[in-house]
Amino acid sequence: MGKHILLLGPPGAGKGTQSKRLAAEFDLEHVTTGDALRSNKQMDISDMDTEYDTPGAYMDAGELVPDEVVNAIVEEALTSADGYVLDGYPRNLEQAEVLSGMTDLDAVVYLSVDTEELVDRLTGRRVCPECGASYHVEFEPPEESGVCDECGAELEQRDDDTEETVRERLRVYEENTAPVVEHYRDEGVLVEVDGEGTPDEVFDSIVGVVDE
Ligand SMILES: [Zn+2]
Repeated sequence: MGKHILLLGPPGAGKGTQSKRLAAEFDLEHVTTGDALRSNKQMDISDMDTEYDTPGAYMDAGELVPDEVVNAIVEEALTSADGYVLDGYPRNLEQAEVLSGMTDLDAVVYLSVDTEELVDRLTGRRVCPECGASYHVEFEPPEESGVCDECGAELEQRDDDTEETVRERLRVYEENTAPVVEHYRDEGVLVEVDGEGTPDEVFDSIVGVVDE
């Protein structure tokens, strides 16, 4: 049977990248809320006390999918997977409790990265307004500073990536997710991995935890 892995960590910790690699390494499904939502748009939720009969109807109406629907979709994605890496859920303590009721976890890994390092990582992104190419001033710089390698257009910093916005995102993350981290720490299942090494070093540490 495939492993059940939960990867936690703040925005910028590299959760997405590491989750994908882990899923490939152990032949698991990479489950994110967004992907689960997209692949279960037509799920019948008419027996739930909700406004619409499918998750897709909320998305079509441009409305926020209610928590209970998100929970049902995540459950569907997890139970239909032969092993998974769960990424981006639970986002709060309530979801963590719901998750305990739907599945057992083999490993809960918390990617720990210092806040100032996260700010550096998250504010360094530059995007090309012409072709959509994405760069990072430190980790993936274009050949010529501020200029797109692909098409020569001038690179921009998105509003989402400014320091003020990034700090606010990190604050909101901390407020909602710190109790989730504490929850798993209290249960004795949380393993903290230093997320400040190179992606390869971080990956090796996570594999070490998961292989135990
Ligand atoms: Zn470009």
